[in-house]
Amino acid sequence: MDIKEIINKKANGKKLTQAEIEFFIKGYTCGEIPDYQISALLMAIKLKGMTKDETFWLTKAMLNSGEQLSPKDIGFVVDKHSTGGISDTTTLAIAPICAVCGVPMLKLSGRGLGFTGGTIDKLEAFSGYEVAIDFNKTINLLAKNGACVISASLNIAPADKKLYALRDCTSTVESLPLIASSIMSKKLASGASAIVLDVKYGNGAFMKTKEDADKLARLMVNIGRKFGRRMDFALGDMNQPLGFNIGCKLEAYEAIEVLKGKPGDLRDSVLDLSAKCISLGKKVSYQYAYNLAQEAIANGTALKKFKQMVSDQGGSVKLFNGLDIKPKLTVLSNSDGILTKVNAEKLGSLVGTLGASRKTISDPIDYNVGVKTFHRLGDKIKKGDILFEIFAKSKKEAKNMEQEFLDCYLIK
Ligand code: URA
Repeated sequence: MDIKEIINKKANGKKLTQAEIEFFIKGYTCGEIPDYQISALLMAIKLKGMTKDETFWLTKAMLNSGEQLSPKDIGFVVDKHSTGGISDTTTLAIAPICAVCGVPMLKLSGRGLGFTGGTIDKLEAFSGYEVAIDFNKTINLLAKNGACVISASLNIAPADKKLYALRDCTSTVESLPLIASSIMSKKLASGASAIVLDVKYGNGAFMKTKEDADKLARLMVNIGRKFGRRMDFALGDMNQPLGFNIGCKLEAYEAIEVLKGKPGDLRDSVLDLSAKCISLGKKVSYQYAYNLAQEAIANGTALKKFKQMVSDQGGSVKLFNGLDIKPKLTVLSNSDGILTKVNAEKLGSLVGTLGASRKTISDPIDYNVGVKTFHRLGDKIKKGDILFEIFAKSKKEAKNMEQEFLDCYLIK
């Protein structure tokens, strides 16, 4: 097979065969096909698209490029995946809820990069929490607690790692078949029998419109079902942060607050996604599953379970008694009006600048920095109302960034 012919075929809008897709994925992963040829092919795919069949074959080839867990190794587990958001700390609350409702959840999670936070970083905010545990301990914890969240240490979908890095610098990230195959190859490799996708849209997400998020979600659901997995999805609005807090410890704390009953959009999303996981896992109606999830919060069992999970993975449970960090600066509104627009991505980036995220995956991060917000889109705000509490390394740094935080809100 000749890679030039494959590039040409896709550039002319023709459908690739399964063999051609396997050829370029294998060739690229092992280094036989160079970056510049795959860059040309990625651009042709971005411009001409792929059929559902091609996207399925691409996912399969990427999945087969690395290690995989299967339901035979880990039993029946459900997984929940978010395409990435700001103040999206749902996993920390959903895993214990599913566990107490009898639906085991195993999540191989990632660290944050750029403006999005990572579940693993939030869990490490419970000091001592061990994220890189071996397979046997994982299986034991899963059996004991019904849920386990660890870092993805397997060599999962190496083709995606290379392709994603290349897409990042060739302006080929925004392509539905490329995003769908990238996400699904990693999800399928984690071995879950049921997967719930939380596809975000809005100014703080990859997909800017709800319509595109819906298309992406359905494409991924279709792929998962072809692999015999039970699938469902939700569309998540990222035109403002999901919760009130941004930053590792602040978000871990907000997950605890949700499990203690705090209302709001974060709680609504937690209940919706939990209900979808439970409904797939137990094969019961969404409403029945939703009631189970609500009950797990109301009777305190999910909170107790989360505390146990943290403790069993070596984490300190001090945060369950209250937040042990204080803001360095309180930012007040200098005008009256309605909160009309929130720049969610910028809020995430600013918290990253405070020290909560990394430029490269090996950078250290500060678990204690972040921002607490107090309003939602549409809220009436009066001059002098508290808009933000900034948790920074120093008061000076917080003061230097005050205006930038204010610029994230349009109040009129
Ligand atoms: N997340 C991924 O894992 N891959 C993409 O292509 C986009 C978001």
